Amino acid sequence: MLRRAIVASLACSIGSALPTGSAALAAAPHTVLPAETLWSISVANNLTTRTVAVYNGLPEQAQLLAGTTVYVPTVQEGAAALASGAPAVAPTPNVGAADGADTGGPVGVGSTATIAPAPGMGHVPSPYGELPLLPAAADAWNAMRAEALSVYGIDIFPGGPLSAYRTYEQQAQLYQAFLAGSGAPANPPGTSSHELGTAVDVGTPEMRRVIDQTGWKYGWSKVHGPDEWWHVDYVGR
Ligand SMILES: [Zn+2]
Repeated sequence: MLRRAIVASLACSIGSALPTGSAALAAAPHTVLPAETLWSISVANNLTTRTVAVYNGLPEQAQLLAGTTVYVPTVQEGAAALASGAPAVAPTPNVGAADGADTGGPVGVGSTATIAPAPGMGHVPSPYGELPLLPAAADAWNAMRAEALSVYGIDIFPGGPLSAYRTYEQQAQLYQAFLAGSGAPANPPGTSSHELGTAVDVGTPEMRRVIDQTGWKYGWSKVHGPDEWWHVDYVGR
């Protein structure tokens, strides 16, 4: 019953984040190269960082991951996004990493849905908004994050909007993308720890290293997905 409520809530939030027009499709997808930033991509396209950030539904200080996709709007599209304040890029849940076998890397920045809080779940901060996890897993994550920030000076967060909890339907989309050859390896729906709200795909190897050192104190560790450095699980304390 709880799960049903969560699914309904996510479906609503994603629906409300959809663009109202289709002009956004004229924007050019750009695959992020190593060391590229939102700023460098914006400057290279004669746009302000703020324009590209708003257009993609990202904070201006968002860290971009190499290999992910951002959309570079035309000047007109960028101006329209700034005027409305709403992201123009449709959420694309199957762009990024699945898991348990994820999709070849953390979930892409190209998938820019900002997920609204889910009732009954805990939440952890991310560049995509507060992402849901099982309450105990979220509490432990946030405690671990506090130590990561204070001791290591490193923030830890899910690498994409689907890098924490996923609904069965979201996992199914990732799996279908994998079968179709457009997504990296993903577990079949019903078999991913992301569907339990007890897994996170972190954004960078640096975050993973911090969790390797401190996670044991909080019940977070590397359990599933041996070939996926980004995937960590909550196993309880
Ligand atoms: Zn994962």
